[in-house]
Order: sequence, then structure tokens, then C-alpha cells
Amino acid sequence: MTKVYISGKYYDKADAKISVYDHGLLYGDGVFEGIRIYDGKVFKLKEHVERLFESARHIKLDIPITREQMIDAIQKTVELNGKRNGYIRPLVTRGSGYLGLDIRKTADPQVVIIVDDISLYPPELYETGMELATVSTIRNHPNALNPRIKSLNYLNNILAKIEAVQAGCVEALMLNHKGEVAECSGDNIFIVKQGVLRTPPSDAGILEGITRQVVIDIARKATIPIQETALTRHDIFTADECFLTGTAAEVIPVVKCDGRVIGAGKPGSITRTIREGFQQVTRQ
Ligand code: PMP
Repeated sequence: MTKVYISGKYYDKADAKISVYDHGLLYGDGVFEGIRIYDGKVFKLKEHVERLFESARHIKLDIPITREQMIDAIQKTVELNGKRNGYIRPLVTRGSGYLGLDIRKTADPQVVIIVDDISLYPPELYETGMELATVSTIRNHPNALNPRIKSLNYLNNILAKIEAVQAGCVEALMLNHKGEVAECSGDNIFIVKQGVLRTPPSDAGILEGITRQVVIDIARKATIPIQETALTRHDIFTADECFLTGTAAEVIPVVKCDGRVIGAGKPGSITRTIREGFQQVTRQ
């Protein structure tokens, strides 16, 4: 039976509940993370906990435990569930209050840790590559709700995903308020052009993915030139290769966007090198 951590106690999955007055539910007021377990080891745990606390700092949410206690709680929940490979979802809500927005009238932020399985995309897409659809929903303007915050309010991404699925694709290409490529609904995007790896910079209105950083490090080690630079749809359409990165998705090739074939229409050699490099760091 799956055990869920809620604020210091463990509950069976069916009994793991939060108040309907919690602003996490009422307003999506809270922050979360998604982390992988590979061969019994939690991957990039410190980095994910750091991002969780940074997201919380931005929304003025005081997480009631320290970073070290969060790390311990995550590791203990993984052990208790006996998971050697899987997915962890830590989240912190604003806590319960009244039916208004003022955070001063809320109390008891809840810390939740769920350990479960995840499989985001059909396995065959890792071999054949996926198709993206550019959606009309733009990524949140950084001055409205900065995408660098991994907040419990994911409607922006969900609206994009709805459009992608409507268009017969499994992932959405989202542009920013300037019309440049930002990221996908749950993944960062990279292209390869003439041997150079390119990805939108942090200030393009993206979540700064932990996997994105791992891939940048792999590229540097493999002496593949890497540029964090503004990209447009033209760059995607005319790229030699394209792939997405994310904790759940890992590294997945993209071979088509809005009906345009990217490169040779199959996963390219740099994408393969990066995927292999990623498998090595996750399984070491
Ligand atoms: N962008 C968005 C919008 C995401 O939700 C995620 C995480 N699923 C990512 C990018 C990838 O980030 P990470 O590599 O840290 O999982």
C-alpha cells in the first residue's frame, strides 16, 4: 500500500487528504517538484529541493521545515514505499484559511510527499520521435506569473496541453509574450543546428529545468557547442535535430512540428549522444 507523507505523518493513499479550505486547492497557491528515483537513488535531490524553496520564496510561502528536513522526509518516504525506480511529487500548500486571498489569514502550510510511478509518453516515441503542435496559449508572462516558479497553478500548461491533444499531438510548443519559443507544457526544448546545441535562455519565460541543466553539462563534457539563445518557430522548423527534456520525459526526440518534418525526420546523432549521456548519469 502506497504511503503518503503529509506534514510529518504517513497515511495510506486512500486516507491522504487535505482540507478543502487549503489555498493550495482553492487558488492553486503553493509550489511543487517532480523528482526521479533511479536504482534506489534520488536523482538531483538537492537541486530539486533548492528549486522548491526558491519557488516558495518567490510566492512568500514559508515552508515549515528546513531543506535538510525536506531531504530526509523525501528519502524516508522513498524507503518506506520500497521504490527503487519511480517518481516523487513533493508539494507545499499555503495552508487553510478563509475564502479570500490574503495570505496573512492562512495557517499551517501542508507538506506532502507522494512516491509513485510515472510514464509520460508512449515508449515507442523515444525511438521514432514525437510531433509537436504550436498552441495559441502563450506561456505565462513573467510579470504575471513567472514560469520560473513551479507553482501548483498549472492551468497555463494544462490549457496548452489541451490544445496539443486536440491537434493530435502529445506535447505543445509554447511561445512567450514576445512570440519566441519558450518551452513545452511540461518539458524544455533543445534544437541542433549545424552541430550547435541551442535552447531558449532562462529569461525566455521558462521553467529552468533540472534536466535541461544536466543536458547542458553533458554537452559541455562532450565538447558539443551549446548556446542559450532566443529561438523562433523558424529555428524549430529548420533545425537538424530537436528534443525535449524533463524529469518525467528524460530526453525525447522531436521529429515534426506543425506538420513540418525536422531534419531527416528521425532522431539525430547528437540527440542520441545526449540520450546516452543522460542514461549514464542517471544510472551511475
Ligand atoms: N518546463 C515545465 C513547464 C515543466 O513543468 C517541467 C517539469 N515537468 C520542465 C520544463 C522540465 O523541468 P525538469 O527537468 O526540472 O523536470
